[in-house]
Amino acid sequence: MIIIKFGGTSVEDAKAISNAVEIISRQRSRQPVVVVSAIAGATNTLVSAARLALEGDLGKATAELNALLERHVLILENVVDDRPTVQQLILEFRRRFDEIKNLCQAIAVLGELTPRSLDAIASVGERLSSLIIARAMAERKLPAELVDARSFMVTDDHFTRAAPLVRPTGEKARTLLLPHVNTGKIIVTQGYIGATAAGVTTTLGRGGSDFSASIIGAALAAEEIQIWTDVDGVMTADPRIAPAAKKLKVISFREASELAYFGAKVLHPSTILPAVEKNIPVIVLNSRRPLATGTRIVADPPRSNAAVKSIASKGGITVINIQSSRMLMAYGFLSSIFSIFQKHQTAVDLVSTSEVAVSLTIDNPSRLEQIVADLKEVAEVTALDKKAIVCVVGEQMRSTSGVADRVFRALNDINVTMISQGASEINMSLVIDEADVTESVRRLHREFFEPVPELEIFEAIEE
Ligand code: ASP
Ligand code: MG
Repeated sequence: MIIIKFGGTSVEDAKAISNAVEIISRQRSRQPVVVVSAIAGATNTLVSAARLALEGDLGKATAELNALLERHVLILENVVDDRPTVQQLILEFRRRFDEIKNLCQAIAVLGELTPRSLDAIASVGERLSSLIIARAMAERKLPAELVDARSFMVTDDHFTRAAPLVRPTGEKARTLLLPHVNTGKIIVTQGYIGATAAGVTTTLGRGGSDFSASIIGAALAAEEIQIWTDVDGVMTADPRIAPAAKKLKVISFREASELAYFGAKVLHPSTILPAVEKNIPVIVLNSRRPLATGTRIVADPPRSNAAVKSIASKGGITVINIQSSRMLMAYGFLSSIFSIFQKHQTAVDLVSTSEVAVSLTIDNPSRLEQIVADLKEVAEVTALDKKAIVCVVGEQMRSTSGVADRVFRALNDINVTMISQGASEINMSLVIDEADVTESVRRLHREFFEPVPELEIFEAIEE
């Protein structure tokens, strides 16, 4: 059995949904369980309607909701031919939207938007997309069985960021889903949504449908989990920066985690943890090019001779240099510094220290002024903005010598503000000026990937 999960862009319109149905159909013999996101943008619209209602702008909220309803109706009419079915579903959609509008009215009147009502509203996107997809499958004579995720995805009551409860979810998923799978049905269910033990609708947090797919896959001991999205997989670099970038056929979970921070279009590592724990491969695939092979993310990929697998970068970084002679041979200094970041709820990404100085980076400067003011009570402080992190990632870096040397030779005259050889030893991060990112990534890509190493793990992206 396999999990096939479609992200929002993979079901964004009638054409995308037809492709999705084709992808399911081709893999029918593998006993797929289909997990779907809301159509692209739907969750944003629903959340924004709720916020508009809170601000008292019911007119705008209603207009946005009407447009979203129209989008769903249009898709439906284009993927389902059977008129009575279409009519019946349109009525059903209208009912759902009426419910949301009523909720919005209550929000506007009370001037209060609770996380619980926000989840009730946000969950509608997946409930609608799954209805359409199940119908579209039935139309192609696929034995679709729509199962509401709220009947088995049991979560705590931390609305808008609910955590699935592994044991009850596993038990319910197996009891409710396996009998269908075993009788040849193709289950369609929603990502992102769940319910508390008492049956109140929750969501797992934005982007949560990958997490859903991973939890369901782990519960059912799936053979693999396919995440269908709109990119070809994980690349050796951002192809907009390094046009010669190649796709990676396989990458380790640890490498994927390092890259995720850089917004490389990889899954967020925590979302695939349940799959990794059970050693279930996760494959990122492009639904616009369904025959391409995607990137497999696995716990232990076969060893390759490539020390470096990917180069990522991220701008908008601020470096904070903190210097104090009090640090020399003293204890407690670092903890006093980090407590300031904690107080201002700002995550620190890279850290490097010497006897009398600490440099660190943050990517969220919204509290920078207060942080610097507090730090100045205990040390000398300078902050440098418009910095970027360039990161070289590869599992084999730890057992390959000379990588650092190659990195610095490639960068040559580019000024490096800070270096951190990640504690994981599979990543080396360099802080440079934002203005140097393109040149740096290109040079590093040339050094490590051009010409492409003759290795099984790299693959050219054919147009
Ligand atoms: N539809 C939800 C969102 O946009 C969940 C997801 O797509 O993963 O956040
Ligand atoms: Mg999404």
